[in-house]
Amino acid sequence: MKMFNSFRKNFKIVGFVFRFCPGYKYFTILFIIASLLNSVSKVFLIQKAIELFVKESPFGEFASAIAVYLIVILVTAFIRIFYRGYISGKYRLVYINKMRDYMYRLAHRIDYADFDNPDFYDQYARALRDGASRGILVYEDLAGFVSSLLNTFAVGSIILITDWMLVLIIIFASICSFILKNIINRKWYLHDKATEKNRRMYRYLNRTFYRQRYAAEIKTTPVSGLLVDKYKETAADINKAYLRTQRGVILYDALLNFVETGIEQGGTYLFLGYKLFFGLIDISRFGSVLNAAMQFSGNFTNVMNFITRIKQNALYIDDFFWYLEYEPGLETRGREALLASPETIDVDRVYFRYPESGDFVLRDFLLTIKKGEKLAIVGLNGSGKTTLVKLLLKFYLPVKGKILFDNQDYAMFFEKDVRRQFAVIFQDFEIYALSVAENILMRRAESAEDEKRVWDALEMVGMREKVASMPDGINTQVTREFHRRGAGFSGGEQQKLAIARVFASDADIYVLDEPTSSLDPLSEKQINDLIIEKARDKTIIIIAHRLSTVVDVDRIILIEDHKIKEMGTHRELIARGERYRKLFATQASLYKKASR
Ligand code: ADP
Repeated sequence: MKMFNSFRKNFKIVGFVFRFCPGYKYFTILFIIASLLNSVSKVFLIQKAIELFVKESPFGEFASAIAVYLIVILVTAFIRIFYRGYISGKYRLVYINKMRDYMYRLAHRIDYADFDNPDFYDQYARALRDGASRGILVYEDLAGFVSSLLNTFAVGSIILITDWMLVLIIIFASICSFILKNIINRKWYLHDKATEKNRRMYRYLNRTFYRQRYAAEIKTTPVSGLLVDKYKETAADINKAYLRTQRGVILYDALLNFVETGIEQGGTYLFLGYKLFFGLIDISRFGSVLNAAMQFSGNFTNVMNFITRIKQNALYIDDFFWYLEYEPGLETRGREALLASPETIDVDRVYFRYPESGDFVLRDFLLTIKKGEKLAIVGLNGSGKTTLVKLLLKFYLPVKGKILFDNQDYAMFFEKDVRRQFAVIFQDFEIYALSVAENILMRRAESAEDEKRVWDALEMVGMREKVASMPDGINTQVTREFHRRGAGFSGGEQQKLAIARVFASDADIYVLDEPTSSLDPLSEKQINDLIIEKARDKTIIIIAHRLSTVVDVDRIILIEDHKIKEMGTHRELIARGERYRKLFATQASLYKKASR
């Protein structure tokens, strides 16, 4: 039943090859026929060639038969080479490209929340890593299997006519060798699994010696001695495990050798030699059956190996179909288009806790955001500021309570439409190994208007001159990872580039989740002021670590104990003299001390 299931899965994934590479199957059929003709012709060619010499018959009698076999062998060999060397490679690329495209397009359905689950994460990574090529590999396996199976029958029946015992000997030996190989492979597989951690450590230690980021500490501290010791210990463990496994398989290796040379080859020679010696077959039959026996054994082994691979493939295929059949809990549930950007957003008595984690992060949270407002959200680390943003973006839905866009529950809207309202820069934003323009637009610049947008955004964050002075301008690559002429911007400059994304976007709500933390407080304040000043008609939500940088917003919201503790302008909150004022005073005195 299990085997049947494995077969079913293998066939199911092959369906994608038929879909993405419809022409491939015709070449495969040609390949299978060519392989079959090639195998059979070789057997007959040998027979005819030997007969020609032994029987001393006139050359002409055999010449035409030999010529036909030779031509068939050459043509079919050419077809096989062409198929293996060109057609397979070509379709493999076509398939992998199309499948990658197909799989990446599905990636947006994955719920953001699922990334919090490490098991999900591992399976997802495996599916994406392996999924694109598995289908074509299974197809190639399957084509090889069909070809080997047909060849096994064809050459097997040539032998069977007179020498069925020989077929039995070979089948017996092949099955024995298949079982022995499986035992040996399993032992090495267990060995690999058991030593995986040590091998990872080995690679890690190796890295510490050649990566630049470790070089300074290796030169200035005694850590290299420590690392070398660790290296020796790890290497000793690996070697010990290797020798242990080696000892464990040596007997099976010897047995395998005996089966392959002693029983299979020795048995074949003995059997045919005996028949030849006692005149039961002639020399030409001896030659041709010997060739057929060798081919039979090779093909039969391929057939058996295929069965092992079917099982292996099935494991990977499970991950692949898990990914294709993934049912999101949240993504793609929105059913209606959000036509206009909302005038008000109400966070209406929202409760939220992360899946599979304890306490509520937000509790009975109540907030109304009006279009065009400039808000700052402040509070200690871990108070739930980022969580609020993630809820607004529909990465998660409230556990209780609602978020309303113009009095309509935002759960009903397409996720894409909800997110289109926001331009967000997170604390852990990414800078991509792409050009400056691409990093700001997050797509290609397709027109002069796009380029102007990029320059304007650079102007806003004070990077225009710097980028203009570079030889490639906005087409300069941002990192040096792949380009020697890459810019290599500093941490602060990278933050400015990320912030420029907000200015280049069409969204009506700008959210800055502390992306300015690498900037000095003065630059941070300047950028915040600039955003407030330049984006008059936009709603702005700034999550700020340093309270002094957001004193000029319309409303400051202080989150504490899972809800809004205080709310008002800077002046109002200072005048109130409670939590905000204390926090503000503490930070101000810290800065004073630091700058003294
Ligand atoms: P802030 O932005 O105010 O620093 P966050 O919103 O990032 O705080 O986090 C609020 C709380 O939620 C913290 O206690 C944090 O540990 C927890 N938290 C954040 N992300 C997750 C997550 N993915 N899974 C579980 N808990 C989380």
